[in-house]
Amino acid sequence: MTDSYVRVRGAREHNLRGIDVDIPRDALVAFTGVSGSGKSSLAFGTLYAEAQRRYFESVAPYARRLIHQVGAPKVEEISGLPPAVALEQRRSAPTSRSSVGTVTTLSNTLRMLFSRAGAYPPGSTGRLDSDAFSPNTAAGACPKCHGLGTVHRVTEDSLVPDPSRSIRDGAVAAWPGAWQGKNLRDVLATLGHDVDRPWRDLPAADRHWILFTDEQPVVTVHPVREAGRIQRPYQGQYMSARRYVLHTFADSKSETLRKRVRQFMTAEPCPACDGRRLRPEALAVTFEGRDIAAFAGLPLAALADVLRPTAARPGDDPAPTLARDLVARIEVLTELGLGYLSMDRPAPTLSAGELQRLRLATQLRSGLFGVVYVLDEPSAGLHPADTEALLTVLGRLKEAGNTLFVVEHDMDVVRRADWLVDIGPRAGEHGGRVLHSGPVAALADAEHSATRRFLFVTEPPPARTPRTPTGTLTLHGVTLHNLRDLDAAFPLGVFTAVTGVSGSGKSTLVTRVLAEAVQDRLGAAATRPDTDEPGDDQDTGPAVRARLTATIGLDAVDRLVRVDQKPIGRTPRSNLATYTGLFDAVRKVFAATDEARARGYTAGRFSFNVPAGRCGTCQGEGFTAVELLFLPGTYAPCADCHGARYNPETLQITYRGRTVADVLGLTVDDAAEFLADVPAAARSLRTLKDVGLGYLRLGQPATELSGGEAQRIKLAAELQRARRGHTLYLLDEPTTGLHPADTEVLLRQLHGLVDAGHTVVVVEHDMGVVAGADHVIDLGPGGGAEGGRIVAAGTPAEVAAAPGSRTARYLARYGA
Ligand code: ADP
Ligand code: ADP
Ligand code: ZN
Ligand code: ZN
Repeated sequence: MTDSYVRVRGAREHNLRGIDVDIPRDALVAFTGVSGSGKSSLAFGTLYAEAQRRYFESVAPYARRLIHQVGAPKVEEISGLPPAVALEQRRSAPTSRSSVGTVTTLSNTLRMLFSRAGAYPPGSTGRLDSDAFSPNTAAGACPKCHGLGTVHRVTEDSLVPDPSRSIRDGAVAAWPGAWQGKNLRDVLATLGHDVDRPWRDLPAADRHWILFTDEQPVVTVHPVREAGRIQRPYQGQYMSARRYVLHTFADSKSETLRKRVRQFMTAEPCPACDGRRLRPEALAVTFEGRDIAAFAGLPLAALADVLRPTAARPGDDPAPTLARDLVARIEVLTELGLGYLSMDRPAPTLSAGELQRLRLATQLRSGLFGVVYVLDEPSAGLHPADTEALLTVLGRLKEAGNTLFVVEHDMDVVRRADWLVDIGPRAGEHGGRVLHSGPVAALADAEHSATRRFLFVTEPPPARTPRTPTGTLTLHGVTLHNLRDLDAAFPLGVFTAVTGVSGSGKSTLVTRVLAEAVQDRLGAAATRPDTDEPGDDQDTGPAVRARLTATIGLDAVDRLVRVDQKPIGRTPRSNLATYTGLFDAVRKVFAATDEARARGYTAGRFSFNVPAGRCGTCQGEGFTAVELLFLPGTYAPCADCHGARYNPETLQITYRGRTVADVLGLTVDDAAEFLADVPAAARSLRTLKDVGLGYLRLGQPATELSGGEAQRIKLAAELQRARRGHTLYLLDEPTTGLHPADTEVLLRQLHGLVDAGHTVVVVEHDMGVVAGADHVIDLGPGGGAEGGRIVAAGTPAEVAAAPGSRTARYLARYGA
């Protein structure tokens, strides 16, 4: 490899037009272009995929068949390609038991430190193995809570939410409904309890027995006449509310039932380990006076401070050696703005950006060199101040002899690259060409590039006058995570941007506290759920609710819409067409064709969720799962339908020359033309285009969509229905994954909602978006314990001039 370039010839993956491109190694290379132009198809789909394929061929010849099935990237030749590591944001969801400590592997080192260098209580017979300090092993887990740290309990408050009701009126809310609930009530009446008195007026001993007894008496029940029907006496058995709830939760096979009873349980710290998840023997071992659970609960920055004196001790004993390693690794994390995280923070509660940066920092210490790191928008979720730190860290990976390929939209990152590959000019078949490959400054000559206009900003945007609010929604005394007794005011009828460095509390304030306050007020009916599938928060443990002393101004809001980045579905069966309801219209069109009518095919026949019409081999998924030994599960096209999802008979039906599978293969842009005269479809397609998703294919599986794409699909689904009244829209970083040109399109939609009388609140890092807001709330000054306060609030111009705000300086550059 004397030639220092990666040379790609004839790349045709997805929409790439047989491109040739030479990219330098040992450099920071940015890939830019509008969404759908083909950046990922080149960086991930071609370069990374080919590196991975070669690697597996070399280490595991038997994997060849499987690799063949997954498919090699469509490219004639690539030379000079080093091994690659991908740090992708999509499709890398962590398991529920992983945490910051396990993702970074800091936990392993900390356990070793406790095992080898901890202070053992007097009388201990030997040192514990490091496994004994892990709640995820049998050797370490607290036997009472199996290492979960919490136990589920029921209390009178949780079982009887409204004590003013009588038993007949459903005081014991946890009881089952229908016949079973009536039976329990009749048994109690037979036993002599007054089922018509308010619960709180019943004697304490009776209340206790009804809820908690382990007895299960059997009595002869004489049911009262109901609805004129005479019912015969029967033998009824009693079961206390506690018994019913705990039993159902532990044993029921029905997810719905388990979910229902879960709401009547409280999760409390396990009394045996006090929530620390470990066996007593492990918890008895300390280092610098604290047990390992206390270490894991400290913010990383504070943890490093505790370890520094030990790390500074000379010598190569385990204590200083391990402490030095921990401190060095934590410093990288702190530098990336993650010092506010603690090791015990569950990975599912982290944002995609936080997770990617944790993985990045872990790579930095791995000591690999001669590797290509392929990253997907590493600036996502980063305040401009944090982005500077990210660039420093990327620079260090490069100095160590590695190559960095980053797909990026943040022009501040792009400007710092050594080399720029710009793909375009537009999305899908209108993209897929290399518009520029060379030094960043030379993009100035690429006349068809959509990126050029944003990279070389010459003048500030025209001044605008912020809108006048129609009211104010105020939250008093907010306490959750790092927010302590905070007061926050959100003006209504305007566009508000919430800013602040990573970990300052933006998501906590907006997507948790504000959302929950409004939701509590409006009730579930007026809230659009963020996912179409149940069972969302089960893995993340007990929900900690915010404390609020008062909320004022909620009356003005009729409806809440949270548009977040959670997947629109968890299987390849969900896609944007099913989510938006657009597919219903498509299926009706097919069922209405002459041939379908002649054969008696209804709309259901054209659903890949119904056995009649779908491919039996893949059951309509179009893919089958392939297990590659040490890779996460991968999907390969179905061997029978080759991804079409339908059986041959269904595919004999065509509409204007296309099968239903062909239509699912169309992009939104193409479908908008093809279905222009089908009003129900056309409306959905227009809103999808409006939020910048014209490049997506209708049938693209939900599992392949990025968080930003999922969020924009939800927004489109919301926009396609006309709404009266006053809706509050909450969005967390809606510009993630968007090229500045796409951001412009999205902003037009959001501002349109405000012009129609609604309120929009976004958590945002793109200073262009913030400068265009009517109101800014800047949190900080730092992350974690150093944040959680409102540093500045006002118009963009006022915040840009606020002393002590880390946002001010960046906002000022955008002419605010
Ligand atoms: P970018 O990274 O620039 O947003 P992509 O490389 O993801 O763009 O997509 C480029 C084009 O390839 C788009 O038209 C997209 O719909 C298409 N595409 C992306 N992934 C797939 C896939 N798995 N199968 C078929 N087409 C795809
Ligand atoms: P931002 O959105 O500004 O990046 P967050 O609201 O996510 O900040 O986080 C604010 C603080 O709350 C941080 O210290 C973070 O670690 C903590 N935090 C956020 N989510 C959770 C959670 N689910 N459990 C515990 N702490 C959390
Ligand atoms: Zn326990
Ligand atoms: Zn199939």
